[in-house]
Amino acid sequence: MIQKRNLRRFLLKTFRQPGYALGVARKRALAYLMYLGGSGRSRLPESLTLFLTHRCNLQCKMCGQWGEAGVTRKNPAGASGKELSLETYRRLLEEIGPYKPNITLFGGEPLLYPHAVELIEQIKRKKMHCLMITNGALLSGCAQKLVESGLDELNVSLDGDRSVHDGIRGMPGLFEKIMAGLQAIAEHKSRLGLARPLVHLQCTINSGNFMYLDVVPAVARRARADALTFHHLIHLDRSELEAQERLCAQLGCSGAGWQGFVFGHGIDVGVLKEQLGRASAQAAGPAIDVYPAFSPEEIDRYYNISGNYSEYNSYSSYSNYCKSIGARCLSPWIAGYLFPGGDLRPCLNLDYSFGNIGEQPLRAVWNSPSARRFRRFLKVQRLFPACARCTELYRY
Ligand code: SF4
Repeated sequence: MIQKRNLRRFLLKTFRQPGYALGVARKRALAYLMYLGGSGRSRLPESLTLFLTHRCNLQCKMCGQWGEAGVTRKNPAGASGKELSLETYRRLLEEIGPYKPNITLFGGEPLLYPHAVELIEQIKRKKMHCLMITNGALLSGCAQKLVESGLDELNVSLDGDRSVHDGIRGMPGLFEKIMAGLQAIAEHKSRLGLARPLVHLQCTINSGNFMYLDVVPAVARRARADALTFHHLIHLDRSELEAQERLCAQLGCSGAGWQGFVFGHGIDVGVLKEQLGRASAQAAGPAIDVYPAFSPEEIDRYYNISGNYSEYNSYSSYSNYCKSIGARCLSPWIAGYLFPGGDLRPCLNLDYSFGNIGEQPLRAVWNSPSARRFRRFLKVQRLFPACARCTELYRY
């Protein structure tokens, strides 16, 4: 469903991409009915995220995969060599083409997947909406092909101006490299008379940039971006992780993906709120929003209250922690995450699998016994301990 907090974001999307937004609203309403039905089945996903690779050319400090505490960084061997072939994706697109889920390409760094552009072309031939999330470092080398591929949205992570971004990424010169890539994207769009891909800058709030957010809209103007979103930082404390692991044991999976987010956030919330206010007040340039769209009180709660899950066992103890933040998660009825080895997962940071698309068609995997068990379990629990820090909780 469309949460009240996301209404503004949804209306903006409806204005910029009306067919896409209305299709999304219809599919969500139907998925919600399946949720209420309680069988654990759902319609084919509205949205499918393809993790093309675990590999990345950067190691950003706060990244849950390759950051200082990142789970992939701890096990780099497990992350290499597991990538689906273009032929496997072609078969998948053939199957889901008639249903037309929205496709997000992510990683690792998706542009390291050698067939990324060909895959976008195939997705667009099937007339599916395609969005890519990239760190932007490789854009210059493929800008023309990306524009010509028909990509709908290009989401680029950018955490500040030159010194802030390069400092956070630990790579001098990266900011200007990204700007050159975005400039090339803008030039090719203009030469070909195309409005797509829409360029959307994604700024993750963290301890290295929360005091400089008011300069980011100027960066977005320079990049000729269509939109800029500030994302609240995903972070967990140790008790939340331990409670999540206890719950995962009941499901027979691991929440190790959350380990990379266990750190002190290091953010002064008063300064953060002031900076977000200043950034959002800048009228000229791209549309600006903050995700999740918390109220000021929710921002305080999100950053300052620990879950203290030592006695966690149900939603009732969870609800005392974060009452108004989220009541239940619908994501596994709506969205799927296809990992590089072919496993379809309901949650980004749990290794619970619905099944493998190398062994069965997606239609079978999506409503497999494992998928139905997970959804029924979640519907009873309503939320898991780590859910308050998961972006999907605030999306549907
Ligand atoms: S909010 Fe919780 S259940 Fe929903 S996708 Fe995130 S981790 Fe999974």
